[in-house]
Amino acid sequence: MARLIDALTKLPGVGKRSAQRIAFHLLKAPPEECATLAKAISDFRKDLRVCSECGNLTEADPCPICADPRRETHTLLVVEQPNDVATLEATGQYHGRYHVLMGRLAPLEGIGPGELNIHTLVERVKGNKIKEVILGTNPTLEGDGTSLYLAKTLEPLGVRVTRLARGLPTGTSLEVVSKAVLAEAIAGRGKLSDGTH
Ligand SMILES: [Zn+2]
Repeated sequence: MARLIDALTKLPGVGKRSAQRIAFHLLKAPPEECATLAKAISDFRKDLRVCSECGNLTEADPCPICADPRRETHTLLVVEQPNDVATLEATGQYHGRYHVLMGRLAPLEGIGPGELNIHTLVERVKGNKIKEVILGTNPTLEGDGTSLYLAKTLEPLGVRVTRLARGLPTGTSLEVVSKAVLAEAIAGRGKLSDGTH
């Protein structure tokens, strides 16, 4: 019991009291529930990996999008997290490839460029025939800051840098925006200077 509580309190947002509640719940639950949870946790780490090209979470490396020869290779859409890829894919309006940062720049939380998949993005732009990088970070203060940083880093490499956020309500996240608005944002993407600032 102490070992389980100890392990649970290492999870984000789980304090000692919540850990005890979960442990007691599992003690009273049918044994299958414990087994299912334990298996889900161990399978999750066994099956999921990071795509070596785009940084997205995937069961196969490269991920299905990077491995798809029908996707345009000269356009990269940069997003904060794996969910954003799923959201944008649902619009059916984008046929290029993605790059997943795994977060956004947040200096106050100590999240700098080194904590994100920015180095791999720069390498991709340098190494491949990328013509356009579309910045699809969330239209929040931190998302905009991340985009500005990326534009400053990527533009000197001779690539066209555009911003997805035009038409997106400020302070929101891609996940909650409707498909139609998102599709418009993809079609109407602009340069940073005539878009969001
Ligand atoms: Zn990939």
